Amino acid sequence: MKVFVINCGSSSLKYQLINMVDESVLASGLIERIGMDGSILTHKPEGKDKFIVEQKMENHEVAIKLVLDALVDEKHGVVKSMDEIDAVGHRVLHGGEYFDKSVLITDETMKTIEELIDLGPLHMPANIMGIKSCQNIMPNVPQVATFDTAFHQTIPEHAYIYSIPYEYYEKYKIRKYGFHGTSHKYITERAAFMLGKNVEEVNIVSCHLGNGASLAAIKNGKCIETSMGITPLEGLTMGTRSGDIDPAVIQVLMGKEDINIDQALEILNKKSGVLGISGVSSDFRDIEKAAEEGNHRAQLALDHFTYVVRKYIGAYIGAIGGVDAVVFTAGVGENAPGMRASICKGLEFFGIEVDEEENNMRGKEKDVSKARARVRTFVIPTNEEIVIARDTLELTK
Ligand code: ADP
Repeated sequence: MKVFVINCGSSSLKYQLINMVDESVLASGLIERIGMDGSILTHKPEGKDKFIVEQKMENHEVAIKLVLDALVDEKHGVVKSMDEIDAVGHRVLHGGEYFDKSVLITDETMKTIEELIDLGPLHMPANIMGIKSCQNIMPNVPQVATFDTAFHQTIPEHAYIYSIPYEYYEKYKIRKYGFHGTSHKYITERAAFMLGKNVEEVNIVSCHLGNGASLAAIKNGKCIETSMGITPLEGLTMGTRSGDIDPAVIQVLMGKEDINIDQALEILNKKSGVLGISGVSSDFRDIEKAAEEGNHRAQLALDHFTYVVRKYIGAYIGAIGGVDAVVFTAGVGENAPGMRASICKGLEFFGIEVDEEENNMRGKEKDVSKARARVRTFVIPTNEEIVIARDTLELTK
């Protein structure tokens, strides 16, 4: 059984072909600049050389066809024919209140997914395009949708409700949904393994710190709170997103800069976060380097980011009522020991103590706490693709 996992962005597409017998990745890759000049496919077959295709890709369907060609290519391929692909799993941004787990794509589920475009206008059209393209190219292969929001559907009403007139929740379903759910789910399962507990017994704060960043509070294996909201803009300061601000900032900005609401939101989504504060980059590596060279705004961006994450960890430990572990994942969480140490500094009161030597590593699943720490600090590289592939296998076998 081989599962093809696809994550379609508006102009990009990431994929993996996974052999479910041993969950090994047969090939992975990335297409960038779909529908623009300079479209490029970077295909990485396991155990073979990387393979690059540069040619015009007008849309996602053309792009997916090229990926399938690469997968069966005599020289760079990893399967003999497309018939070896048994199912396709799609990462879909928003499942609204309809989907609390992955679903098999049928006419009916597709209709519901299409109704959710309003909740994710930037990502949902691309996700839907990915599904439709695969249906056209592989009409007999079953497809599954895995939602970024699904794991967070256990968040209780008192936590997901926004304190605005209740009618807007009733009429428009305006509430907190949260994202990165597939990652937080994977982290919860791995943390249970590392703690030697059943998932239902696990209490953790899961910190997904990448370019986009979110925290999830997990109580008895279920998500009870997360930092992103109806869109991925709420919560932590991120690479380019502002996270929490007083909503009235928007009005002030629009008046002072003479811009419209779309331009204001563009600033909050694309020009804010650590990029906005530092003026250097959205990439933490560049910011850390600039800070080391004495750039005050770069240091300010790092101090602000670590402060906000620390503040949220404290709040979430309170929301859960005590934790077994705090877990770091994604680009920054997995690869930046200095950021992990700064975030945890000041959390000793909670029993969190990072060991400097153990923590001095990147990209490995590891307990980085001091032996005496009452609460463990784990680094766990996330793997959203394997969660999508497992759900796809489960729903199609
Ligand atoms: P995305 O949200 O795009 O999936 P990732 O989880 O891949 O993001 O994280 C990307 C971010 O991780 C980069 O912007 C970079 O800031 C950060 N990162 C990656 N490696 C390092 C490193 N060695 N040190 C510090 N930050 C890193």
